[in-house]
Amino acid sequence: MTAATSPYDVAIIGAGVVGTAIARELAQYRLRCLLVDATGDVGTGTSKANTAILHTGFDAKPGTLEAQLVRRGHALLGAYGPPAGIPIEPIGALLVAWDAEQQAALANIAENAVRNGYAAARPVTPAEIYRAEPQLGPGALGGLHIPGESLICPFTTPLAFATEAVLNGVELRLNSAVESAGDGGDGAHALDTAGGTIRARYVVNAAGLHADVLDRMFGHHGFTVTPRRGELIVFDKLARPLLNHILLPVPTKLSKGVLVSPTVFGNVVLGPTAEDIPDKSATGSTAAGLASLCDKGRRLLPALLAEEVTAVYVGLRAATEHADYQIAFHPGQRYVCVAGIRSTGLTASMAIAELVAEGLRDAGLSLVPKDDFHTVRMPNIGEAFPRPYQQPELIAGDSDFGRMVCHCERVTRGEILAAARSAVPARSLDGLRRRTRALLGRCQGFYCSAAVTALLNDLDGAASAAPSTAAVRRFGVRWLATALGWAGWKRSDVLGFHPPPLPPQSGSKLPHSTE
Ligand SMILES: Cc1cc2nc3c(=O)[nH]c(=O)nc-3n(C[C@H](O)[C@H](O)[C@H](O)COP(=O)(O)OP(=O)(O)OC[C@H]3O[C@@H](n4cnc5c(N)ncnc54)[C@H](O)[C@@H]3O)c2cc1C
Repeated sequence: MTAATSPYDVAIIGAGVVGTAIARELAQYRLRCLLVDATGDVGTGTSKANTAILHTGFDAKPGTLEAQLVRRGHALLGAYGPPAGIPIEPIGALLVAWDAEQQAALANIAENAVRNGYAAARPVTPAEIYRAEPQLGPGALGGLHIPGESLICPFTTPLAFATEAVLNGVELRLNSAVESAGDGGDGAHALDTAGGTIRARYVVNAAGLHADVLDRMFGHHGFTVTPRRGELIVFDKLARPLLNHILLPVPTKLSKGVLVSPTVFGNVVLGPTAEDIPDKSATGSTAAGLASLCDKGRRLLPALLAEEVTAVYVGLRAATEHADYQIAFHPGQRYVCVAGIRSTGLTASMAIAELVAEGLRDAGLSLVPKDDFHTVRMPNIGEAFPRPYQQPELIAGDSDFGRMVCHCERVTRGEILAAARSAVPARSLDGLRRRTRALLGRCQGFYCSAAVTALLNDLDGAASAAPSTAAVRRFGVRWLATALGWAGWKRSDVLGFHPPPLPPQSGSKLPHSTE
């Protein structure tokens, strides 16, 4: 049997933040792994539409797997993020009680935090709250300060994981929905996709909202995913000075509740709602949802409602009938299901990946560390970090980093070209937005989408060949360590590294304000 026809050691279904974290974890070992996704990019599902908070796990239900993995994930991602170029801002949160019942719950929440291994939460008086947050609406009765809650970039995180996985040998197959699973012979699974059959000795199901459908293909019926819709409103950057912390409500049984938080892009976000719905694709906003957010926002931070709205987006939590994550190992079947990762998967992703690797080892997969593992440094697109247009030495090396294309978000031609040529390249306007912030700003692409589209189309025309995996590995490490790390890049370093072909873009189509 040749290498080409031999099965993969592991196939991971789903390239959200969870699947990409698992791929990155397994990339550290001498394995042949495949990461497969139904869509045309990584991080396009729930992972691109969340509240983007790196949680401490203070409010998780003690004793649950979720509590354990969020706590561990906070530590792992908190350490991994900064050197990998993932914007993280540890600004802390204030959890505010607005009535007597909520006030009475504070002591219990603080106790639970300690049981969850988080001892830094401390009670704050109304006077302290209003000193810290002068714009807060009237009527706060008390609260908790949780210093470890942080802002994080939801876009860069799965991209960093996927990039590191690809540069260390994981194959990424996009536009390949797994439609059925069966026996692939010689002890391997066979996964049928429109693009052909994938054979793999071990399979990890990280399909998010569709994990129940996949799980049934493997003969299991332990849970059903019911999407829990969360609508959010993004306010203009002018609103950013209104608050200093993440402002949390007292959580309910259904959700963490509606919060107000800055984002790493310098905006302010209000949300999310929580509504169980039957449709796994219902990512449109609703008048009722937005109205309820405005009501809550008016009470929390009255001045916020006078600010302009930049965008509205909707994320679907992969909720199940169970209160905890649904991570199940089936060693005899060489199959792992990673499901029910509802409201905390961005935070817990690296801890989930660690757990999955251990489970695979227990199921007989040999995990031999590679001699060399290439780390990445992604372009840091956070507002609190230096951007390329602010770096004269970078612009002196390549004037494209001084040529502004998206004026709202200050994104340069150099960044767009880098994103389109990276190891996990942007192939659409949405992909570009998540890699560079282009079209993410106040005008939502009204002014720059034509220029950005033309640039992508030019690249498409100029591309003579997609980079081979070998070329990506050869040039990608250097590319990411230098060009994408924004230090010392010269064009000559990447001569011969052709941008991959891009799909045709519709020149007139503006990006949606809802995702
Ligand atoms: C409103 C909201 C707010 C949230 N806030 C936070 C927060 O502040 N902090 C936090 O830590 N977490 C938060 N979360 C949770 C977090 O976003 C999720 O837990 C996480 O994104 C789940 O990642 P995933 O990889 O499991 O799923 P997804 O990102 O949905 O990825 C699943 C992937 O599987 C692919 N797929 C599905 N079916 C198939 C198939 N048959 N074949 C191939 N591929 C397939 C999909 O295309 C998709 O790319 C929030 C979630 C929501 C909705």
